[in-house]
Amino acid sequence: MTESASFRNLPSVSFLLDSTTARALLSRSPRDVVVAAVRVVVDAMRAEVASGIVRDKDGWASLAVSRLAAAVDAGEALSLKAVINATGTVVHTNLGRAPLAEEAVEAVVSAARGYSNLEFDLSTGERGSRLSHVEGRLREVTGAEEVHVVNNNAAAVFLCLAGMARGREVVVSRGELVEIGGSFRVPDVMAQSGATMVEVGTTNRTRAADYERAITDRTALFLKVHRSNFTIEGFTEEATVEELVAIGRSKGIVVMDDQGSGALYDYAAAGIPGAESVRRSLARGADVLTISGDKLLGGPQAGIILGRKDVVGPLRKHPLSRALRLDKLTLAALAATLRLYADPVRAAARIPVVRMMTEPLPKVKARARKIARRIVAANVPGLVVEVVADFSSPGGGAMPGVTIPSVCVAVTSASIEAGELERRLRTGDPAVVARLSKGRLLLDARTVFDREVAVLAFAVVKAAAATS
Ligand SMILES: *Cc1c(COP(=O)(O)O)cnc(C)c1O
Repeated sequence: MTESASFRNLPSVSFLLDSTTARALLSRSPRDVVVAAVRVVVDAMRAEVASGIVRDKDGWASLAVSRLAAAVDAGEALSLKAVINATGTVVHTNLGRAPLAEEAVEAVVSAARGYSNLEFDLSTGERGSRLSHVEGRLREVTGAEEVHVVNNNAAAVFLCLAGMARGREVVVSRGELVEIGGSFRVPDVMAQSGATMVEVGTTNRTRAADYERAITDRTALFLKVHRSNFTIEGFTEEATVEELVAIGRSKGIVVMDDQGSGALYDYAAAGIPGAESVRRSLARGADVLTISGDKLLGGPQAGIILGRKDVVGPLRKHPLSRALRLDKLTLAALAATLRLYADPVRAAARIPVVRMMTEPLPKVKARARKIARRIVAANVPGLVVEVVADFSSPGGGAMPGVTIPSVCVAVTSASIEAGELERRLRTGDPAVVARLSKGRLLLDARTVFDREVAVLAFAVVKAAAATS
């Protein structure tokens, strides 16, 4: 058979569209989707013919028809989908940071489904403020005098700089000119805000006196930025917020603390060092403090500005606030998350990030064992499953250098390389993101939900049992 003859054996698009299967699919999916799926199937078969696979007309046609439904499903699938996080990184920026508490999910659904009193005061029948749904609880939980909330912490920092220091100078340590998440760079945000950055000190050492010496009649702000994703060790020194506040008070300069991680829970009291609670940070006296909503706070993406009334109040009325304002779904999720903080025990039980950060090792181990037992029960030939001690990471620019003891399921296959197993899990359904360590595939049980144990184990069995 010549090569062109084998291409000629492939079914045409119109032939496939006329099949009983395609007609059935057309009754539930838009025509464009079905046509695109037929093209995908035929294109894949062209590649198979080119690679030397030979079949007769009927063989190709029936194979094509059998692949149609899956191709239509793939065409209709949303690209953004749920993923099982077995990496052990709790606040994983690429995996969407904080999973929401069920209470927050329900609040989002209810706000999304119909109308709400978003900006409507039901008692007076007059226009209300969308911030009214979160400001009271934020003040209570953090002890701040005034609060403002925008889209994310980058926006919060930007608004603070634009609102308080446009056309003026902001003094910042060279050791804190950080880049966070590949797109938030302090010097770039500063430039966009219209403030002039005045760098002081060196990468490893900056003293309060360096800030004081940099003061001119154009100085508006001392800015401290939390080093969220790295640590500096050795011969180091930095000015404390308290020292800057003392200078700021006497010279009329506002002190801003970009704290980032935003721990409302007292992680230090739970034995996890590295992330000071927002309440404690604020008590150091900074005039304004900025945090993310979806890092250690465990809520939706948001930027929260906390501080003195005369400093934060004007930011709420700044024209940029309209461009950076929170959407109602975020607001619903944030309000429901904040409510859980009224009781720390409830916060640790209900807010996934707080629970994962603080879950005692025996509970993590029990989950790892459950996952392992289910995989072992499937008796996949050549598969070795062990429960091993390892370390999780808070992640997300929260506590650099801090690790949390954890328990992982280590999976090795006699016939499939760890990297290939990792790829199969990642591209499977449901998608599972695991980590590789010393040639082994590790599934960290700390970031896996109990409800995911069975599907996770099944995904591993599927990946390890498949031949290609
Ligand atoms: C994470 C972080 C930011 C950026 O916050 P987003 O919520 O990601 O916009 C800014 N500053 C610090 C110190 C951070 O840790």
